[in-house]
Amino acid sequence: MPFDAWVSWMEYVACNLCGSNQTKLVYPSTIPDRSQPQDVDVYRCTSSGYGRHHAIVQCSHCGLIYSNPRWDDSELLDSYEAVEDPLYLQEREGRVLTFERHLRPLEKITGQAGGRKLLDVGCYIGVFLEIAAKHGWEAWGVEPSQWAAEQARQQGLNVIHGTLATANLSEASFDVATLWDVIEHLSDPMAEIQRVQRVLKPGGLIVIHTMDIDSLFSRVMGKRWPWLMEMHIYYFSQKTMAAMLRRAGFEVIWSGPHGRFQTLGYLGTRFTALFGRLGRPVEWALNATRLRQVTVPINLGDLFTVYARKRS
Ligand SMILES: [Zn+2]
Repeated sequence: MPFDAWVSWMEYVACNLCGSNQTKLVYPSTIPDRSQPQDVDVYRCTSSGYGRHHAIVQCSHCGLIYSNPRWDDSELLDSYEAVEDPLYLQEREGRVLTFERHLRPLEKITGQAGGRKLLDVGCYIGVFLEIAAKHGWEAWGVEPSQWAAEQARQQGLNVIHGTLATANLSEASFDVATLWDVIEHLSDPMAEIQRVQRVLKPGGLIVIHTMDIDSLFSRVMGKRWPWLMEMHIYYFSQKTMAAMLRRAGFEVIWSGPHGRFQTLGYLGTRFTALFGRLGRPVEWALNATRLRQVTVPINLGDLFTVYARKRS
């Protein structure tokens, strides 16, 4: 393929938070010049594309950190629509515990559900919807992957296949909207937060969980921070996230570190992804014993949740 054809798939973008074009390089690209975006495996939730990413820059004006240049929009959405991820199904138990833990602090703010409406944006196979419904929420999800949306529907969950931009939801119709590990994958997070703002009732709550590039662990790991990956386009800090929410018409209530649960078996596969052959004996040992099913809490302080209210 000629070099020009490759370049045409890449686009330079202005800062999504403040519109500035002035950036400084944080981490140079680790992707060989002529690779292609067709490899949808990179976009699976459990993808192990560690260490492979485009150039990561920081806006000189507002401090937002993002991937630039990157694959253009249509390539990105096509990739998410084509995603299938059986490994995620195996990891269900860890996700259930993680989402149970996400719901508790949320309900401290909202109180008991009492049949109120919750929207999970990028609900994937619907694990959070299932838990929210069990806790009395009228839970709805939007999901671009055909495969994942179908998995969720088979569980009897309310899932719209598509994105918030195409879903045609009524204005001011939801009490709560959640984005778990979704915002960092979007090509235009500001527009998405504005779409959420539109469908929330006045005073409605948005909850976003993502990685924190300003965390101590991220700063200590530097270019080896495991979340630097091709599928992540935006690397928020709690500060840039709060600034974006304020711009989109929200008032931040609380923001802080929040971990997740994972099985040891899954961590073994991550270990191998990170350390190659060195990790294989660990993965083998976990698979050979019952330890692979053991679920452990992970909190390195580099993931955070923010809760914000729609200004009336
Ligand atoms: Zn900026």
